Amino acid sequence: MNRYLSDDLDFDQKHIWHPYTSAVNPLPCYEVESAKGVMLKLRDGEQLVDGMSSWWAAIHGYNHPQINAAAKSQIDKMSHVMFGGITHQPAISLCRKLVDMTPEGLERVFLADSGSVSVEVAMKMAVQYWACQGAKEKCRFISPRNGYHGDTFAAMSVCDPINGMHSLFNEVLSAQIFAPAPQTRFGNNWSEDDIAPLEDLILAHKNEVAALIIEPIVQGAGGMRIYHPEYLRRCRQLCDEHNILLICDEIATGFGRTGKLFACEHAQITPDIMCLGKALTGGYMTLAATLCTEDVALGVCAGEPSVFMHGPTYMGNPLACAVANTSLELIQTNQWQQQVKDIESQLSEQLLPLKSHVAVADVRVLGAIGVVECKQAVNVAALQRVFVDNGVWIRPFGKLIYIMPPYIISPKELAKLTEAIAISLQTLG
Ligand SMILES: *Cc1c(COP(=O)(O)O)cnc(C)c1O
Repeated sequence: MNRYLSDDLDFDQKHIWHPYTSAVNPLPCYEVESAKGVMLKLRDGEQLVDGMSSWWAAIHGYNHPQINAAAKSQIDKMSHVMFGGITHQPAISLCRKLVDMTPEGLERVFLADSGSVSVEVAMKMAVQYWACQGAKEKCRFISPRNGYHGDTFAAMSVCDPINGMHSLFNEVLSAQIFAPAPQTRFGNNWSEDDIAPLEDLILAHKNEVAALIIEPIVQGAGGMRIYHPEYLRRCRQLCDEHNILLICDEIATGFGRTGKLFACEHAQITPDIMCLGKALTGGYMTLAATLCTEDVALGVCAGEPSVFMHGPTYMGNPLACAVANTSLELIQTNQWQQQVKDIESQLSEQLLPLKSHVAVADVRVLGAIGVVECKQAVNVAALQRVFVDNGVWIRPFGKLIYIMPPYIISPKELAKLTEAIAISLQTLG
């Protein structure tokens, strides 16, 4: 069967939107029939080693027997029930775990339906917090460039204003304050110059800023940049000194990906507000959470109305909570730390040598994340084809070829991914 010509794929091209694709000239799609462990099985029977964890999410691999069992058992009790005036065991047990696992001080959990929504919730909390202290003018946000926080309007406003894929919307978005991206790389010597521009901006704008929002240690979709923990520590200090809340967006980094359970731990800080998503359900379904400190929660509800103004229809969805509970139990009982460490050493060994390739600008590795930055933007469709022909699933964007495989990947499967990256570079000349 030719996978590019089936009727279904033809319908797909003509009628179905995919993430960031054109309706006029869509890139080809590959039809996946099933997935198990680290393998994606295409409709024509071909098996691909998954290098993406379905965008940071499927950390335990696909079709996991324990998570499947949890979903089946919960669906026979109830899939969903409204969260207004009602609570249930899946949510209680999940929030207990989240309060336990996350950095000390995060006590209150708001369950949201996607990462972007959890960012909206975090930003609303920060604005409402200051409004309730009589500081309504503190309603803007400050953020380093190269950030990515989601695709809804408030989240878009704090994404990188140039490469953030959202420049079309600039006229509609709230104008936020952008600092230069952190420059000192993880593992290099810290330079004081790195924090100075952010400090200046904070001094100039502190009376109008509600919060600083940042992805801890790894800037994901805004460039896959990995920066020095001291930058994050200094963000915490500056926020404390100048009455600004700190929001850490751990949606990509949370649950072990960087080698720590949460990337904040690299800097040993607790944010005032933390966003979680992606791997929260082990890649099974959409669920996110916004956690905050007791101080923020009480502050948000100190005024009139004394409630937090948000409540999605599917808030606390029991099915998603049951699945997330099992995913977190797997994290607590299995060997994620060793797995991520082993992936990190293998990625370092097999990817770092690619630095010398003529088409490559930089290679970086942290935890179970490997990034090859090319000198020029790659042809996604062509490269994707090379990857599929070599038995792997890797989806590059811009200049970046990057992988963040499920933690359960074997050394042999991981070698298949890194070899495919090396092969793909040959096609770039
Ligand atoms: C993916 C991502 C989001 C958005 O999450 P969605 O579930 O896609 O809405 C926000 N912030 C970061 C850091 C992300 O990686």
